[in-house]
Amino acid sequence: NHVSIMDIHFISTTKTNLLSDELIPRLKNKEKCFIVTANPEIVMQTKEDAQFKHIVQTADFVVPDGVGIVIASKHKKQPIKERIPGFDLMLDLLKYANDNQLSCYFLGAKDYINNKAVSEINRRFPYLKVAGHHHGYFKGKESEVLREMKATKADLVFVALGSPQQERWIHKNIDQFSHGLFMGVGGSFDVLSG
Ligand code: UDP
Repeated sequence: NHVSIMDIHFISTTKTNLLSDELIPRLKNKEKCFIVTANPEIVMQTKEDAQFKHIVQTADFVVPDGVGIVIASKHKKQPIKERIPGFDLMLDLLKYANDNQLSCYFLGAKDYINNKAVSEINRRFPYLKVAGHHHGYFKGKESEVLREMKATKADLVFVALGSPQQERWIHKNIDQFSHGLFMGVGGSFDVLSG
């Protein structure tokens, strides 16, 4: 259930099945998981940056975000089942966290955006536990932020630093966490904050 486009192995399944067959079982088992949602821009970046390509290749799931990926897969005569927008996948994960009272950490975006996004998440998903949150401009305070995040032992960690910075951050730090589903979510906090 994978389709390879320029050496990036995309998952070819529906959002519903990705959640029920892969992500929810991992959350239940407290297995660590790294999700990259990749659009054509990200695929092009991997072409120019071998280190970033390696990082994307270490992800547990590369999700086809963007019609361009689906079109490319059709050209290869290996059509990907469904485009899975990262924002929609994040909302489904938040809903699951809400239904199961899991804890989530929100890293990234400008301070006021981060605060507004977390308020909106609290409003929409009142039973989800906000383990913590921090804006995405923490140069010189990396280890402090990491220490705080690790201490929360969050079940899900959403990282909104933009690509490739968010994927680099997850790749660099995931080993230090005991568990957690880690996902780069780009401009999603900006969208949520309205
Ligand atoms: N961002 C951040 N720290 C940085 C650079 C960017 O938190 O050092 C945030 C930015 O405020 C925005 C998010 O990253 O909320 C995504 O940015 P962008 O839309 O440029 O990324 P994309 O969605 O295109 O990957």
